[in-house]
Formats: sequence, structure tokens, C-alpha cells
Amino acid sequence: MTHLFKSEKVQYLCTCGSLKPLCRTFFCRHCLALKCGDCVFHEVDILYCSNCLENVPPGEARVKKNQCSECFECPVCDQLLLTRATNIQVPSTEDPSKLVPKKMFYLVCGFCRWTTREAGLPDQPSATGSWPDSDNANSARVAALLEHYRSLAQLDKFEKEQKRQLKRRSNYLSFTADKYSLSALAARKRSGLPFSGSLGMKKETPQIYKVESAVAFEETDDMLDPEIFTKVLNLSFVTTIDQRIRQSERQPVKSEDLIPIHKFLSVRRSQRCRFCEHNLSKPEYNPSSIKFKIHLGAFYHVPDVIIFRNSRDDMQLRLCNRSQYPTHVRLLSLDQFSSIAHSKIEELESSFGEAEKEKKSSSSMVGHELCESPATQAANFRSCLTNALKEKVNAFFQLPSEQILLPARDDLAEYELTAPQNLKDDPKAVLWRKGNKVVVSTPLTVLDDELEEKRAGFVFEFGAVRAGFETKEVQPQPTNVYIPVFISLGKI
Ligand SMILES: [Zn+2]
Ligand SMILES: [Zn+2]
Ligand SMILES: [Zn+2]
Ligand SMILES: [Zn+2]
Repeated sequence: MTHLFKSEKVQYLCTCGSLKPLCRTFFCRHCLALKCGDCVFHEVDILYCSNCLENVPPGEARVKKNQCSECFECPVCDQLLLTRATNIQVPSTEDPSKLVPKKMFYLVCGFCRWTTREAGLPDQPSATGSWPDSDNANSARVAALLEHYRSLAQLDKFEKEQKRQLKRRSNYLSFTADKYSLSALAARKRSGLPFSGSLGMKKETPQIYKVESAVAFEETDDMLDPEIFTKVLNLSFVTTIDQRIRQSERQPVKSEDLIPIHKFLSVRRSQRCRFCEHNLSKPEYNPSSIKFKIHLGAFYHVPDVIIFRNSRDDMQLRLCNRSQYPTHVRLLSLDQFSSIAHSKIEELESSFGEAEKEKKSSSSMVGHELCESPATQAANFRSCLTNALKEKVNAFFQLPSEQILLPARDDLAEYELTAPQNLKDDPKAVLWRKGNKVVVSTPLTVLDDELEEKRAGFVFEFGAVRAGFETKEVQPQPTNVYIPVFISLGKI
């Protein structure tokens, strides 16, 4: 609930220019920039069934149409179907005149009480029964079309390969190709073998699988039942549109034709920074684990802001640092940020030439080099500034001019009732402090009184430690990061 409240009120400006609540963003510790779900690479890590937690390899999932073979959902209400056992009397195999009990299984929905017996499906002798798969009347046609497109893809691939080989061959002739290919060519020439046809590896052009093109008819076979105009319709015997679409191959009209639906597989994703290609979030491989191998959620690295008190004269914001390093925070107005950004951009642009020289001589990792080059830093500043100035604000905070120290997160400090540390704070600016949380006074100046909804913004300046620098014995040197924050204050 608190997240819902915060997500509506306090939004951080992402590097891509969109506004997101802090809990929905990542903080790349290599680029030192905010990244939201819209500006990162999403990669499928594993496919699994969210009910039985079975891990399915991608190839197998494709064959199974991304469905779990063991788990079923109710065709009426989408809930998971439960297996129920029942005892029935069957004639004994030794003496047919005698009856012996036998265990049989059927599926039942715990929510709407739909059962497989309702659909006229016989009970199965095993708990993981082989329930009928939905038969598709058009399966032959679909298979033919798939085959056709597969052959087209193959031909496309073949042509691309041919082009690549032609290019390579022209390189051989000009004697600029790598020495191994050349020596092979020379060896063939010396032995009198022909060297056309890519050194004897001539491939046949793949044939296109022909498929009949579709023909449109005026009339369709499935005519509407004439009884529908004369009989009173009982809606409980007719399926809804949703139910029909969920069984798209069959699209049953009557409720009695519904059959259990295989549960669709879920996907576990990992996120990667588009810029430096480092992982921002990577879950554990095991589907039953809720832990992460890497998790750079901005919540743990960027100071968090909430509105502590919302009134015009007594506006208060609470800042909280959840990172493992203490950080100095400064709240800048958009104008202050604009002058800082301009001077930074100039400074960085003047150092372009030197950096270029260094880049050529050094052989550092590509990712790190990219993140830290002055050209990219200047570009980041520029896009951050233009995006921040685009946002409309009609109220202004009177921000504390001094830096405020936010101590590092200390889980044990939460339980201590000790007095706050002796930090030299301006009592007018810092009203309250405990552990890693600080309440600051930010009186509000409203620009246009007629407008009802008030919106204000400022830029966070805080020190962040770049990844890979924390293991060194010396105290890690934080780099200043600027993140614009916009707060919707509603009616005041
Ligand atoms: Zn973004
Ligand atoms: Zn399953
Ligand atoms: Zn149900
Ligand atoms: Zn990055």
C-alpha cells in the first residue's frame, strides 16, 4: 500500500526521460545512472510452471506449446484444477463375478466446482492422467504453413551465407584475407585442384515447400443453429467469449464441450543495462528460489524520498539511504542544476581530446571505458537536463542549501533507542534524524494559485560508489550523481 501511495506521488526521472517511482527502477552501478523497465534489455532466463515449479528447457517448451503437461486450469474460471480420487467397483480379473474397489481420478475446480465429469470425460486410472488434448481441425493446414515458412527462412539463411562467401572469395583474390585461407587456396592451386565452389563445399539451394493459398468463400459451413431464434436461451449452457478464446482451436459454443486447459508456463526474466551490458537483475536459476544472484534495484542504491508533511507553510520531506555506504545529499533546484550541468558539460567536452588519446593507448575493458568516457558523461548530463526542463512544475521548494549526511543502512540501528549522532546539522533545515533517515524542511512557494494540482521538482545530488571500486583497501571515492525528482502534491 505504501508503494502504491508513493508511486503516485514521488517520481524519479529515468535516463530515458520517463518518470518512474523508485521501486520500479534499477540503478546501474557501472554507468551510475537510473534505468527503468522500458530502457533495459529483458532476457528470458528460464521457463517454468508456476504450479509444479518444473523447469522446462526452451526447446521442450516450444514443442509443448509453452504449456505444462501435468497442470490444468478450469475452462470456466481459470483457477487451477485439483485432482480428486474416488473408489469405484470393478469386476475382478480373476473372478469376473466378484467386484473389487479401484481408485480412479478426476479433476475438480475448487472455485466454481466444475469437474471433468461435467464435460463427459471418463475418470483416469492415474493421478497424472492423460487428459485429452484439444484437437485442432486445422492442424494439417497449420503444419503445412509452418513448414512453408520454415523453408522460406532456410532459403533466406542460405542466400545470406552465399553472399558472405562471395565477399570472402573476393578477399582471397586480392590477397588480403587471413593467411590460413590463403595458404589453403594456394595448396589447392599447387596440387591442380579447382578452387571454385568454395573449396569444393558446394551446397544445394533449399527448395521452397509449396502450400495452397487460402481461398475466400461467400458461405461458411458452420451456420447458426435455427433453434436459437425460437427457443429461450439458457445462458448457463452457453460459453462466454473469454472461454471460447481460451480454447482457440475448438471454440466450443456449449458449456458441456469445455475441456481442461493446460497451464501456461511462466517466464523468469533478467535485466541488462543497454549501455554497458552489465546485468542489473538476475534471479537464481532454481524456479522455487525467490533470491537474486544480482539485484541492482534503485531502492537499495538511490536515496528514497517521501512526503512527510504536506502543507504550504510546513512542507517536510523524509530522505532515507538504503545503500551500504554513507552518502552526502544535496537538494538542488532545477535552475541550480541547469548551471551545474552546463559547466560540467563544458568541462567534459574540453577533455575529449585527451581521453581519446588515452583510449587508444589503454586496453581496458570495453564496458568500463564506455561508461566513464567524458563524451558519454557529457551526453548523459545533456539528456538529463533537457528531460528535466521538459517537465511542468507550478510550485517550488525552498531547499536547504547545505549538504546533508545520510548514514549507511544499519539493520541493527532500527532496534536501538539511542540518541541521534552528533552531526552538525542546520536546525532550520534538518528537523529530525534517526539512523539512515532524515526529515528536512522544504517550505513551498506556489506559482499559480488557480491550478488545483500542485507539482514541484528538485534534483538529487548524492555520492555513489562505482561497482568494482569497493574492494580496494582505500576508502571508496564516491562520484556525484544527479537525479531529478518530481513530486505531485495534489491540492494544498
Ligand atoms: Zn528508462
Ligand atoms: Zn505444472
Ligand atoms: Zn472453475
Ligand atoms: Zn550500465
